[in-house]
Amino acid sequence: MTRIHNLGFPRIGARRELKFALEGYWKGERSRDELLQTGAELRQRHWQAQQGLDLIPVGDFSFYDQMLDMSFTLGNLPARVQGFAGDELDNYFRVARGRSAQAHAECCGGVAAGEMTKWFDTNYHYIVPEFTADTCFTLNPRRLLDQLSEARTAGIKAKPVIIGPVTYLSLGKVKDDSNPLALLEQLLPVYAELLEALAQQGVEWVQIDEPILVTDLSETQQAALEYSYATLRNSEVKLLLTSYFGQLQDNLPLVARLPVAGVHLDCINARNEVAELIERLPSDRVISLGVINGRNIWKSDLTALLDWLEPLAAQLGDRLWLAPSCSLLHVPVDLNSEDQLDADVRSWLAFAVQKLDELRVLGRALRSGRDSVTAELAENRQALESRRTSPRVHNPAVRDAVAALKPALGERRSPYAARAAVQAARLQLPAYPTTTIGSFPQTAEIRQARRQFKAGELSAVDYRKAMEAEIAHCVREQEALELDVLVHGEPERNDMVEYFGEQLEGYAFSRFGWVQSYGSRCVKPPILFGDISRPTPITVEWSRYAQSLTNKPMKGMLTGPVTILNWSFVRDDQPRADSCRQLALAMRGEVLDLEKAGISVIQIDEAALREGLPLRQSEWKDYLDWAVESFRITANGVADETQIHTHMCYSEFNDIMQAIANMDADVITIETSRSDMELLDAFDHFQYPNEIGPGVYDIHSPNIPDQAQMVELMRKAAERVPAERLWVNPDCGLKTRQWPEVTPALRNMVAAAQALRAAS
Ligand code: GLN
Ligand code: ZN
Repeated sequence: MTRIHNLGFPRIGARRELKFALEGYWKGERSRDELLQTGAELRQRHWQAQQGLDLIPVGDFSFYDQMLDMSFTLGNLPARVQGFAGDELDNYFRVARGRSAQAHAECCGGVAAGEMTKWFDTNYHYIVPEFTADTCFTLNPRRLLDQLSEARTAGIKAKPVIIGPVTYLSLGKVKDDSNPLALLEQLLPVYAELLEALAQQGVEWVQIDEPILVTDLSETQQAALEYSYATLRNSEVKLLLTSYFGQLQDNLPLVARLPVAGVHLDCINARNEVAELIERLPSDRVISLGVINGRNIWKSDLTALLDWLEPLAAQLGDRLWLAPSCSLLHVPVDLNSEDQLDADVRSWLAFAVQKLDELRVLGRALRSGRDSVTAELAENRQALESRRTSPRVHNPAVRDAVAALKPALGERRSPYAARAAVQAARLQLPAYPTTTIGSFPQTAEIRQARRQFKAGELSAVDYRKAMEAEIAHCVREQEALELDVLVHGEPERNDMVEYFGEQLEGYAFSRFGWVQSYGSRCVKPPILFGDISRPTPITVEWSRYAQSLTNKPMKGMLTGPVTILNWSFVRDDQPRADSCRQLALAMRGEVLDLEKAGISVIQIDEAALREGLPLRQSEWKDYLDWAVESFRITANGVADETQIHTHMCYSEFNDIMQAIANMDADVITIETSRSDMELLDAFDHFQYPNEIGPGVYDIHSPNIPDQAQMVELMRKAAERVPAERLWVNPDCGLKTRQWPEVTPALRNMVAAAQALRAAS
């Protein structure tokens, strides 16, 4: 009989209870006991929500991050936090968040936080394990065993979840850059001990996550996998080797060979590999198929799934398990909280709780026949049919426009050199022109005005007045600072993607659709459900107003199509590339409207372009092709004398230089201050032909950079890029900073530019 199980449940809580408990504890407003209590309640509630499944994950709950949990379980604490006298949970938070040197001068002297990075291709960030060549591991199974006994008491059929040794080591960093896999020898005995401890508690199955299996593996990594699972094969628990986020591809034969009791495959991405996996796996192995999408928010097509699964169930019998494709960590908790969502759209969606309902229906159908779930299947079919045929989803005019796209739409009229001359004549900028990335501090007053406006307490007219007052203030400040290209400051934007999504046709917004990004931080991605169009101009009035206040160029400020796409929940009924082209056409309209309104400089932010890179290198070209094409469609319809800027807030460009050059923006501003301008080497080697604004001041820190520091950074930049193509600007937007930090920092920045001009 088919078994159903889950790989992980969102831990943040339907109302973000964990977030508030954590932040309250960190601020000293709640006791540790209260925090622990919230954790225990959430675990209970989430286990109850998973009742009816044959196996329920335990250990997936975390106070910060599952990788950091693993580091603590394996006794791998960075040297700087070892020997801490206080509570272990506090030490855990010290690694997670760091402690500032100033605030802790009297006690511990402060501690640097662990580095944080993206978990595969998701928007979740984990704390990177740190190793040295002589790291020792010692087992600390307390957290896992405690959660296990809690689950047992609650009558839960528990399946502990851990991260596998090869993924754990591969995602870590060795201080001296040696190979972390060399630590396997020391690490595996601790894993063996952990499995032994679980076996002693009567655990039958352990889910061991090795998502590294969906990436391009080196020979060393492959050998490490063989060696690890050969070493752990004698353990008394059964291992479910779990891959997710992609296909196994070349790694499939390896996976099929490993001596584990079962294998989980992500069938959203790798359904084409199921047959081969079944064929290769020895006949006593369990095959867990991840058939419900753990990364999106759409209902599954249950009838189609059953058409596919019924013969497999007949063939595999007890060996067939069903699950979501990956942990449900990456979707919101419960659609039932959404009382204000458009009824049509709502009927097409499934969040974590609803996805488990789908799983239960599949399980029941396979065990007792489809007749046992007739009503559920009928309802599911009806919802899918309504989505398939809804005029809200399908807009023939948009489809026609995308079908008619021609490469010429993405071409500027003249090459960069010719444009640069026309723009210089129009804009009359000095050498080393200064500008900012767009946002200025989002003050409490701004946020309050927005809240009141949304709650209907502030009229549209008064809200506009309040925002215009902010814009006017921003412009006055920038003029006083003698910046060269001004911005309006983005006070009217809650978020650079949500703001545009709210004004585009084809987007919906949830109230509680939060997904953990890292620690207590969550994002609420907008839901792109239909063909995208722009009913009216979005930013033009704000930009026109801001420009009316100054004779200096006022930069129009937009979010690019790739970033809007990558930070949304997207459609599963058409390729991402198609959705991106629709967004590109809509945003192109906005660019052209800004130009018509007399805006001479337009910035199109592509903050998330790089993070959309696929996990497999073989897929990069295709992604970059359509991503760059989309940007070009958005940006390049303007006349030569309109200057296009783009901004990217990260500092790795080596792999994507050609794509960046193909975007052909007149000016690109990037994050560089923390890399000491070394990242400009990539631009130098590539002989990047257009203008560059390497960030000279780290906006993530409250420190006020001094003039000499910034002059020095620009000198380094000028060794790599000809000075006449350099701009001077901060690393990113200033919205998270306070005015008392921003004003002196920008004053120093402008003084640095003036010093450079005087010296040249
Ligand atoms: N224009 C945006 C801002 O200044 C850019 C933000 C970003 O790149 N993340 O806030
Ligand atoms: Zn940025």
